[in-house]
Amino acid sequence: KNQWAYFTESLLESAERKNYIHSILRSSITNNEFKILYQPQVDVFTGETVGFEALLRFKNHNIFPDEFIPIAEEKGLIIPIGRMVIKEVFHQLSQWKDQGLEITPIAINFSVKQLNDEGLINYIEELLKEYTIETKYIEVEITENILIDSEGATKFLNSLKALGIKISLDDFGTGYSSLNYLSKFPVAKMKLDRSFIQQYLNVSSQKIMKQLILLAKAYDLEVVAEGVETLEQVKLLQKLNCDYIQGYYFSKPVDTEIVLEIIRKKYDV
Ligand code: C2E
Ligand code: CA
Ligand code: CA
Ligand code: CA
Repeated sequence: KNQWAYFTESLLESAERKNYIHSILRSSITNNEFKILYQPQVDVFTGETVGFEALLRFKNHNIFPDEFIPIAEEKGLIIPIGRMVIKEVFHQLSQWKDQGLEITPIAINFSVKQLNDEGLINYIEELLKEYTIETKYIEVEITENILIDSEGATKFLNSLKALGIKISLDDFGTGYSSLNYLSKFPVAKMKLDRSFIQQYLNVSSQKIMKQLILLAKAYDLEVVAEGVETLEQVKLLQKLNCDYIQGYYFSKPVDTEIVLEIIRKKYDV
């Protein structure tokens, strides 16, 4: 009996929390109260930053995407939010370009739900023209669940590729039939899920990482390891012949001003 009371209470609580976040999402869309942070991807052997991942934040709330993105997806708000992120990144890239600054590609996360955004490819094409951005500066990160064998997904990814946009397979090793996807979809990069790196002391986890990296190489993919927090992990990834590293060891996601500082420096590896 008590358990039931507890259960309904926590359900209510989570429903309330969801409503709360839903309303924050709506007002943040209306009032443009999102910001984007950037986290560097560093060459394992040279210490140079080769690119950044764009990560979404609320300007005024300490609520993080792992919690708000699923709600945005459920409520259909990921469509306007997804477009906003793309536009913001393109805008930022064009500003850097206008200032004559040396820049790197920026990777944008796409949700599976954005495949339902009919005009998305057109929208991207128009923005590319508006901001005169070369597509070599744009990458798209997708997780495996986006791929679940749909024809729509294949078409969508092929259109991106035709535009010259590089596609990364995110959270690699955590989903289903990953191997299938490697030959089926136009993927250029693989992001090794951070759960492997976090258990790097575990022999079995090291074996899996080693094999996943070999597999990626067999498909001519570049490999990014995520969630790297220690020098020991960096050294291991060098040994495993991983290409790039993203993680707190080098930098947390940062504001735009810091991006330029990071591009100019070289990390010790
Ligand atoms: P993700 O794509 O796997 O992004 C990597 C996450 O790992 C980021 O969390 C990043 O801050 C975090 N991270 C990076 N280095 C480390 C590290 O060394 N240690 C640990 N513990 N964590 C690290 P964040 O920014 O909270 O984003 C969480 C997820 O939300 C992302 O996972 C991505 O799936 C989603 N997301 C973020 N921004 C967007 C967006 O603009 N659109 C969509 N659709 N999803 C987004
Ligand atoms: Ca990502
Ligand atoms: Ca990831
Ligand atoms: Ca993730």
